[in-house]
Amino acid sequence: MEEVGTGLLDRLDAMQRVAASAPGGPLLIVAGPGTGKTRTLTHRIAYLCAELNVFPEQCLAITFTRRAAEELRHRLDGLLGPVAEDVTVGTFHSLGLAILRENAAAAGLPEGFRIADDAERAAARTEAGDDPARYTALLRKQDLVDLDELLTLPVALLKGDKKLVRDYRERWRWIFVDEYQDVDAVQYDLLRLLSPADGNLCAIGDPDQAIYSFRGADVGYFLRFSEDFTDARLVRLNRNYRSSAPILAAAVQAIAPSSLVRGRRLDPARLDPEAPLVGRYPAASVADEADFVVRTVDDLVGGLSHRSLDSGRIDGRSTSLSFSDIAVLYRTDAQAAPIVDALARANIPVQKRSHDRLRDRPGVLAIARELRHTDGSTGGLPARVRAAGQVLAERFAAPTLDAAGTVRPEDVRTAVDLLTPLARRCGDDLELFLSQLATGAEVDALDPRAEAVTLLTLHAAKGLEFPVVFLVGVEDGLLPLRWPGSTPDDDAIAEERRLFFVGLTRAQDRLYVSHAARRVRHGTERDCRPSPFLDVVDPGLFERFGEAEPRRPKDRQLRLI
Ligand code: ATP
Ligand code: MG
Repeated sequence: MEEVGTGLLDRLDAMQRVAASAPGGPLLIVAGPGTGKTRTLTHRIAYLCAELNVFPEQCLAITFTRRAAEELRHRLDGLLGPVAEDVTVGTFHSLGLAILRENAAAAGLPEGFRIADDAERAAARTEAGDDPARYTALLRKQDLVDLDELLTLPVALLKGDKKLVRDYRERWRWIFVDEYQDVDAVQYDLLRLLSPADGNLCAIGDPDQAIYSFRGADVGYFLRFSEDFTDARLVRLNRNYRSSAPILAAAVQAIAPSSLVRGRRLDPARLDPEAPLVGRYPAASVADEADFVVRTVDDLVGGLSHRSLDSGRIDGRSTSLSFSDIAVLYRTDAQAAPIVDALARANIPVQKRSHDRLRDRPGVLAIARELRHTDGSTGGLPARVRAAGQVLAERFAAPTLDAAGTVRPEDVRTAVDLLTPLARRCGDDLELFLSQLATGAEVDALDPRAEAVTLLTLHAAKGLEFPVVFLVGVEDGLLPLRWPGSTPDDDAIAEERRLFFVGLTRAQDRLYVSHAARRVRHGTERDCRPSPFLDVVDPGLFERFGEAEPRRPKDRQLRLI
């Protein structure tokens, strides 16, 4: 294989380099967890711009969440410097919004249209009853569009206007999509319109991490990429840099029965013969499970930090751990409370990440409305947010005016704090700020540097990595999740197994799975069995805790894939 591009591609391995430096045309990168997808994608963009004279403004990089888009932008800045600003980076929704802004009249929208907020949507829905046509008309009367329309309107517009399609294809000659396994039908339509079958479309993802079918995502688009795009080139990344060999072996065995990747392989880049096995704790109850987490966290952080002899190195990594190295993952939000309580009782700091939308916090919408109605304001957005907060705090503090009684002055002050980071990112652009709020900007509750144990649902943990991971509630009924009176079909079970795979592969050095023998679900305490997903994992990969004395298996030989 020819060695290409010294310098820029030096930090990639051989296959990552093949992917990053592949010539134009459709390119599908099938890559498992921890194989460096984001690294490869950003290096490809940087390589094309720096070495092949592609203009950054001809590049469009699309992801699914704002967080992921910000991460891409940040990494491109690091690789390309200031010209990275010319690369268009965004989510599908922000791309749709940009297209509508540029073509408002053609799309039948007024210049100053905006995205309806929840209250406006609910009001229109109530008034329209069951009549979807009427619903849209009510929104339009107020110059509003629905969130879904940020995708459906551009698709309709482009379908009816060949010249517009040509213009956009001319502008963005190179398109990159991260997490392609999660595209849905409308997003796919938009992508096809922007990128011809023989275009420079680079899609990257992992079908075995497709976990959003409940939102309409269809992994089928990933699987039939080479039918959709002429002469597509396929590159596989199999080398996992994240997880220790036992963790990776367990994960690969766990996904095997549902794997969508023919000949799925994940080769551990880390080969430490001393790497701990996967801890397994059969808890008697939910409280016992929470205690196990607390005890183990305490041991890992307290124990290691007090015993300097132990803070050696594993695979070149320091083994001294802090709370921020640890995550607790679970299938449903309801599982968090007992764990949070137990950690808090032991004075262990925690931060919980949920899909908290900024606009759902008290006071946020009031500030957004206030901003919209003070025209002609000067100063940057953060200052305007503060000023609006001031006005509202005073208004809500006046007893006679506190009619609704729902928003308190202290809520407004908290809302100002929550909105300030977003306001800072949007500079002077009020329209951008309001549209980001409407398209679901999240509360930045997760601080990777915070000295706290992180609690996350499996869905929220996608794409992240932690030195230590606890996966709790690995029980039949929770993983796979089952509602009373319903039996999940094969597709649903497969998706649950992929979610389990996502969870296992977040761990770098230590992974613990636990299951309780009894748990209250849907109001009733029930007996629980361990998840059937555990049955396909070689028992030799587990170290069982919690039986009289923790027993260490004598034979620590691993059977790797
Ligand atoms: P996921 O599917 O879970 O999102 P991913 O494929 O996006 O995983 P990354 O998060 O990009 O994987 O990379 C996983 C880890 O491996 C990161 O810590 C990254 O820095 C490291 N890594 C990736 N490629 C290399 C490499 N060539 N050399 C050393 N470390 C690497
Ligand atoms: Mg990733």
